[in-house]
Amino acid sequence: MRYGFALDQRTCIGCHACTVACKTEHEVPVGQFRTWVKYVDKGTYPSSTREFGVMRCNHCTDAPCIQICPTGALFKRPDGIVDFNNEACIGCKSCMQACPYDAIYIDEDTHTAAKCNMCAHRIDQGLEPACVVVCPTESIWVGDLDDPKSAISVFIATSEVQVRAPEQNTKPNMFYVGADHTVLEPLAAPMQDTYIWAKPDAHRADVAADLPTDPTTGAYASLNTAHPRPWGWRVTTYLWTKAWAAGAVMVAALAIVLGLDRQSYESVLAPAIGLFGAAVTGALLVWDLKRPERFLYIFLKSNFRSWLVLGAYMLTGFSGLAVLWIGAHLIGADGAVPWLAVVAALAGVVTAGYTGFLFGQAEGRDLLQSPLLFWHLIVQALMVGAGMALIGAVASGADDRLRVLIVRVLVLSTALHLLMLLIEYGGKHASRNAAAAAHMIVRGRYARLFWLGAVGLGVLAVLLALPAWSSPTGVALASALVAGVLVQVALLAYESVFVRAGQDVPLS
Ligand code: SF4
Repeated sequence: MRYGFALDQRTCIGCHACTVACKTEHEVPVGQFRTWVKYVDKGTYPSSTREFGVMRCNHCTDAPCIQICPTGALFKRPDGIVDFNNEACIGCKSCMQACPYDAIYIDEDTHTAAKCNMCAHRIDQGLEPACVVVCPTESIWVGDLDDPKSAISVFIATSEVQVRAPEQNTKPNMFYVGADHTVLEPLAAPMQDTYIWAKPDAHRADVAADLPTDPTTGAYASLNTAHPRPWGWRVTTYLWTKAWAAGAVMVAALAIVLGLDRQSYESVLAPAIGLFGAAVTGALLVWDLKRPERFLYIFLKSNFRSWLVLGAYMLTGFSGLAVLWIGAHLIGADGAVPWLAVVAALAGVVTAGYTGFLFGQAEGRDLLQSPLLFWHLIVQALMVGAGMALIGAVASGADDRLRVLIVRVLVLSTALHLLMLLIEYGGKHASRNAAAAAHMIVRGRYARLFWLGAVGLGVLAVLLALPAWSSPTGVALASALVAGVLVQVALLAYESVFVRAGQDVPLS
C-alpha cells in the first residue's frame, strides 16, 4: 500500500481553502503551514498569467527526512504516509535540511518538527484528508498508488504528471497535473520586492537579489511562505570547535608516531584541548536543539541511519579517549599514552569528518553535499588544530622539533585548505542549487567575508608561518603564533558563509 496525492493544477483556483482547512484541522500556528498555495505571475499585462502550485510534504518513498532524523520521530507508516511523532522530536532541524521541498517547519507552540501527515488520523477513520474534502474544484486526489484500479492511479496513468525536484531521487508520492514548471522549480520564479497580499519574509527578500533570473519566462513568485534558515551561528561554531579539538589531538599523535620526545603537550595538553573542544561542541549542539531537555533521546532512541546519531557517538567516544589519555598520564601509566593517542587521533579524524556525511544526508542543501567535504573537514581540523597546538606547545615550553612539526602541519594544511576552496568554487557545480549558493559566496552577498576573511586571512597565515618552517624561534615564532590565531578566524569566516549560503537557496 502506498498512499499518495495528485494535484490537478488545471482546475485549482488558488482559493487557499486547503490551507485553511489544514490549519484548522491541525491547529497550525499563524505564519506556519503544512500546505500552502504558491502563486507565480508571468508575462506583462494584459497578456499576463497567474499559475498556482499547492505545496506540501511529498510523502517520499525514499524520504531523506526519515533517514536523517536522529530519534525516529519521522517515520513511514505501513500505508506509505510519512508521519511524525512530536513526543520523540528533539528539534534538531536536520529534517528541514534533508527535505528538498521545504515541507517541514518547527511548530512554534511545541518546538518540534511538523508537516503534512496526510491527515493520518482521518485516513485511519476511513475519511479523506481535510484539504481533499474542502477543495471546491476537487483538484486534490488522494489514494493508494499501488492499487492500479484506485481513482488516483487511473488519474495519474491517464494524465501527464510531474513531480518536484525529481533529481533528488526521493521518489515523491505527490504528482502534479498541469503545473507550470515555474511553480515547481524554485529558481525559475524568484520573488520581487513584495507579494500581492503579504510582505515577504526578510530572509527570502535578502537573498532574492543574489538569485539568478530566467529572462525567457520573466516569471516571479507573487505569493509564497517564509522559510527561515534552520541552522545558524551555533552550527557554524560547532564546525570550528570540533575541528580544533580533533586537530590538536591528531597533531599530538603525529608527534608521538614520529618519535619526538614526549613533552607536556603530547602528555596532557593535547587531550585536554581535545576534551575541552568536544565539550564546547556538545554544548553548542544541545543549545541548538529546540527541545534541549530531550538531548539524551539521541542515545536512547537512536536511529543508526542518521549521521547525527553516529556523529554524537563519535564525539562521545573521542571525549572518552581523551579522558583515558589524561588519566593514563596522571596515574603514571605513560606506556599506554602512545596507543591511546593513536586511537584518539583516529577518533579525531572521524569526529572531524563525519559532518561530511551528515551534510550529505541534507538532500535539500546541494552545496553542503560536496563529495570533497569529508576530506576538507579533516584538512580544516589539521589547520585549526595546528594553530591551537602551536599556542599550547609554546605556552608549555615545547622544544624546537615539536614546534617545527606543528608549524609545518599548519602551513601545509592551510595551503591545502585554500587549494580545496579553489577546487570547490573554481569548477562547475553539480546542480543549479549548488551553483546559486556558490555564486553567493564567490560573487554575491558573502563575497567580502569569503575573500577577505576565509581566503585572505588564510593566505596571510601561510605567509606569516612560513618563516618559522625550519626555525620557530624569536620573531618567526611570534609571527607563526599570529598565523595560528588567524587560521581560527579564517575558518570561522568560511564556515559562516558555507553554512549560510548552503541554506539560502529556496526550495519552494
Ligand atoms: Fe515529506 Fe520532505 Fe520527508 Fe519527502 S523529505 S517525506 S517531502 S518531509
